[in-house]
Amino acid sequence: MAAKPRQKPDAPDASDRVSRIREGVTAAILEHRLLPGTKLGEDEIGDIYGASRTLVRTALQQLAHEGIVSIEKNRGAFVARPTPADAREVFEARRLIEPSIVDHAIDAVSPAWLDRLGRHLDEEREAELRGDARAQVRLSGEFHRLVAEMSGHSIYLGFLKELIARSSLIILLYRRHDTPACGTDHHAGIVAAIGKRDKARASALMLSHLNEIEAELFLKELGADELRLADVLGA
Ligand SMILES: [Zn+2]
Repeated sequence: MAAKPRQKPDAPDASDRVSRIREGVTAAILEHRLLPGTKLGEDEIGDIYGASRTLVRTALQQLAHEGIVSIEKNRGAFVARPTPADAREVFEARRLIEPSIVDHAIDAVSPAWLDRLGRHLDEEREAELRGDARAQVRLSGEFHRLVAEMSGHSIYLGFLKELIARSSLIILLYRRHDTPACGTDHHAGIVAAIGKRDKARASALMLSHLNEIEAELFLKELGADELRLADVLGA
C-alpha cells in the first residue's frame, strides 16, 4: 500500500474547522449580526478562523446548499436575500413538518425534557425583560430546534435547522414590527400541551403559531437598498 501523502498543517481538523466556520456564520445570521446581502469575504473569514481558502470555500458551499448563503459567479459569497416566494415556501414547509415534530416530541416526553423546555422558556422571558432583541431572535429559533431534537426524528431535525436559519433571514427582511416574531406565550402554550401529552392541541397551537409569524411579515419584493436603516446601524 502506498504511503499516505503528507497532510497539510490544517488537514487533521479540516472538517472541524469547516463546521466551526459554518456554525459561526450561521450564529451571526441567526442573531442578525450578519445582514442579508452582506459580502462574505473568503480571506477575511479565513483569517478569523485560521483556515485555508479551500476550507472557507467548502463551508460557504455547504451554507449555500442550506439556502442561507448565495454564491455568485465572479463576485463571491453573500448572506442570502430570500424573496417573498422563498419566504412562502419556507413557511409552507414549516407548517407541514412542525405539527408532526410536536407529535413525535410528545411520544418522547419525559420530566427531563419538560425541565429543559421550561428552562428555555425562562431564558426567553429573561431576554424579553432585558429587551435583548438578538437573544430573543436566537432563542425563538432555538425553541423550535429543541422541540425537533426532542422528537428524535433526525430527518425532520435536519430540515428544520435549515428552515430556521432561512426563517431568521426572512423575518429580518420582511417583519412589519420590531418585536421578534415568536411570542414566549405561544411557546409556553405549546410546552403546556406537550406536558399534557395533548397531541391534537400541541399540533394545532404550533400550526397557528407559524401562521401568525407568517401573517406578521410583509411579503413584498424589496429593492436592493431597502434594508431597514435601523438594522444596518445595529439599533
Ligand atoms: Zn416560535
